[in-house]
Amino acid sequence: MTTAVVVGSGPNGLAAAVHLARNGVDVQVLEAADTIGGGTRSAELTLPGLLHDECSAFHPMGAGSPYLQTLDLARHGLRWRWADVDCAHPLDGADAALLHRSIGETAAGLGADGKRWRQMFGSLSANFDDLAADLMRPIANIPRHPLKLASFGPRALLPATVAARWWRTDKAQALFGGVAAHAYYRLDRPATSAVGMMIVAAGHRYGWPVAEGGSQAIANALVAELEEHGGKVTTGVRVRDWADIPAADVVLLDVAPAAALGILGSRMPDRVARAYRRFKHAPGAFKVDYAVEGGIPWADPACGRAGTVHLGGSFAEIAQAEKDVAAGRMPARPFTLLGQQHVADPSRSHGDLHPIYAYAHVPHGYTGDATAAVTAQIERFAPGFRDRIRATASSSPAQLAAANPNYVGGDIIGGANNETQVVLRPRIALDPYATGVPGTYLCSASTPPGAGAHGMCGYNAAESALKYLRRG
Ligand SMILES: Cc1cc2nc3c(=O)[nH]c(=O)nc-3n(C[C@H](O)[C@H](O)[C@H](O)COP(=O)(O)OP(=O)(O)OC[C@H]3O[C@@H](n4cnc5c(N)ncnc54)[C@H](O)[C@@H]3O)c2cc1C
Repeated sequence: MTTAVVVGSGPNGLAAAVHLARNGVDVQVLEAADTIGGGTRSAELTLPGLLHDECSAFHPMGAGSPYLQTLDLARHGLRWRWADVDCAHPLDGADAALLHRSIGETAAGLGADGKRWRQMFGSLSANFDDLAADLMRPIANIPRHPLKLASFGPRALLPATVAARWWRTDKAQALFGGVAAHAYYRLDRPATSAVGMMIVAAGHRYGWPVAEGGSQAIANALVAELEEHGGKVTTGVRVRDWADIPAADVVLLDVAPAAALGILGSRMPDRVARAYRRFKHAPGAFKVDYAVEGGIPWADPACGRAGTVHLGGSFAEIAQAEKDVAAGRMPARPFTLLGQQHVADPSRSHGDLHPIYAYAHVPHGYTGDATAAVTAQIERFAPGFRDRIRATASSSPAQLAAANPNYVGGDIIGGANNETQVVLRPRIALDPYATGVPGTYLCSASTPPGAGAHGMCGYNAAESALKYLRRG
């Protein structure tokens, strides 16, 4: 029987493993940590009974993943749950901007910019499935929907700072800026609108759901599917060298490029090794989880209905914070993403104690303690928040990287979304998954289409591996 080893059980490693197993390959997954799931793990990080997502929390790209949608993961217990409001963006002294799944409801809350929000995202969200089918594959493929892609392209290539001028109100600009900041790159650089536009469009198509019972449910469902097709996962095995990998016909690495280089060593052709060494990582994340009694006392109560809350103030303030972070400077008010997963999934809470998840964008490898800065960003829009904190658990970039070696320097998106790498990652190649070592593929978020718990990097890499196997 044809055999495969997958190193790493993140959503991409598991999607790759499932796709191979469903195609008759005998798959073994080796995972360094004691638990499966990589960026989709959940745990009681603060107090007993409070379930926190360790990494991924909101899943517009998971629910909208062209591959995950082909698997009946509900059969294995994966249920998406939506908050009333997908994302709230509070502003100083004004009402928060609210992103709803419904484009009409979102537009209605944006006043003078409502019509323009519809114009920007109406056709984009209606065409989301076709666009995702093309954009979540490597660029070398012939587009299946060239006209839709051609109409998205010019807008996507704009810097977010330019795209934001489409709107006139602070509310709409800030709402877009907060989502564009998911690119984790300077918003005045080309193509930074692409990430924001796709996440907003995915939101209007699928919402920003959480997984009931924690993001861990995504990994658990993928492993159940894998096991049903004869595959297995072994935890507690850190692969450092080629010798640590059992003999197999194909090997898929759900790891960062530098780690792949370490594992493959001199087997890797020099030109690929050089490209992997040049690979650029993104700024870091500093994560703070809180146990909060009675929930967050938002100045605008509408924020209490949201799953995600973007804390960064105006578009200009977010753009400056992202610029600072990219330049290695810690901003006084870092852009912070806050998660209230319990709003959509009350099973995460314990009585009136709720798990709150937040992470700030900080410089790559930042060594300071950003806990106070994150708390201050929340307190800014929710006076009295501090008094409700019952426990806190902070994770610095170094601690995130220690828990998951893919988060190099605290980079949680698998590599910088700079002008080249946003599309061509980890290197410019017809098959970006190929490592140059026959039968060995990179399948982590450092490959197209990049970060997110959508499994598309794994699926695409598995497709490359299956083509290799068919060539014999
Ligand atoms: C704080 C945070 C918030 C996030 N929020 C979201 C969100 O809301 N929505 C979203 O879609 N995404 C989010 N993400 C990003 C998402 O989690 C990642 O993009 C996704 O998990 C990447 O999947 P992956 O399979 O490529 O790698 P990972 O999920 O990082 O998994 C890699 C796995 O490989 C293992 N591994 C690495 N090296 C080795 C080795 N040498 N030997 C054996 N095992 C190894 C690791 O232990 C890990 O389990 C977030 C991430 C973080 C950290």
